[in-house]
Amino acid sequence: MIPYSKQSINDDDINEVIKVLKSEMITQGPLVERFEKNICSYTSSNYSVLTNSATSALHISCLALGLSEGDILWTSPNSYVASANVGLLCNAEVDFVDIDTETYNMCSTALSMKLKDAEKSGKLPKIVMPVHFAGQSCDMINIKKLSEKYGFKIIEDASHAIGGIYKNTKIGSCKFSDITVFSFHPVKIITTAEGGCAITNDENIYEKLKLLSSHGVTRNPKNMVKKTLDKWVYDQISIGFNYRMSDLNAALGLSQLLRIESFINKRNKIANKYFQQLKNLDLKLPKQEDYNSSALHLFPIQVKNRKKIYNLLHRNDIKVNVHYRPIHTQPFWQNRGFKFGLFPNSELYYSKAISLPIFYDLNDEMQDSVINVLQKSCL
Ligand SMILES: *Cc1c(COP(=O)(O)O)cnc(C)c1O
Repeated sequence: MIPYSKQSINDDDINEVIKVLKSEMITQGPLVERFEKNICSYTSSNYSVLTNSATSALHISCLALGLSEGDILWTSPNSYVASANVGLLCNAEVDFVDIDTETYNMCSTALSMKLKDAEKSGKLPKIVMPVHFAGQSCDMINIKKLSEKYGFKIIEDASHAIGGIYKNTKIGSCKFSDITVFSFHPVKIITTAEGGCAITNDENIYEKLKLLSSHGVTRNPKNMVKKTLDKWVYDQISIGFNYRMSDLNAALGLSQLLRIESFINKRNKIANKYFQQLKNLDLKLPKQEDYNSSALHLFPIQVKNRKKIYNLLHRNDIKVNVHYRPIHTQPFWQNRGFKFGLFPNSELYYSKAISLPIFYDLNDEMQDSVINVLQKSCL
């Protein structure tokens, strides 16, 4: 059986986790902090807060930027439902911006037009959350320009994209955003089993993220209400969640981060072979902008008869998947008033989309079997 993606865990990864299991501190030990530091140096950013999922990182990112009732968040319909859910979890309104037909990322021209209309009707978003689909960065320079013109904050949902590069800057640098979020779910580029992280260059936002991730409680003398020498005293100074990552997960993440270049290289090798071997078939290959280097979380193709080809691949034990059914077409969002046809590019893309297998342990023979099925069915 060949999945569309899966983790690669080697003996080093396993040994690092065992070391933690044999140590005194399996939750809040030294490794979370070390992993946070290493993510910052990997992305050339100032601060990062590890969490138990990307969803919780997105949630506290919205809260840290002040999203609340009466506010509006815009994201891409071509994403996992979590990108939109977190807006509602903050009691804000959620709306979407349609995708570009080549990159399948939020279209900055559509964003610009929607902002113009929203300004007229007094419904400008407080936060725009572009999603770096498949691991390729959105058009961040233009999105940042628009944020300066219209005064919204930016959260990059980079769940697919650790290791990706945009105009010579690593995704996660937060050069074009207030916060960037990574996911470490097993299907993503590196894994901690469940896990995520929020990155920022702003100390204020960092302090808020830290508090929100851990009950609103601080032991940092700088943030405590009264100076004290009593070591047992901690202050709760806001509301918060327990969204922390454990040292067990961080140990795995630290070890995986050491392997990231080999992961990305392998994904590139697989993608190049797909580009070579599928280029003359009756299907549409994904496009990478020349200023982008994708982390290649997904390899999305578009085919004429999706149902037929999906079923054929599955009958050959190639368990491809589809990313994504547009969020606004989900029953929950339909019940909230979203109609089919609102974001036609995302709907058309979805109707033909299949994500081909791409992951570190996909070998030549396995990839050949995928290519074989397509060569026979997409003439
Ligand atoms: C996977 C994913 C998430 C959620 O990540 P978790 O770590 O599973 O919470 C959010 N957004 C996108 C685009 C994703 O692919």
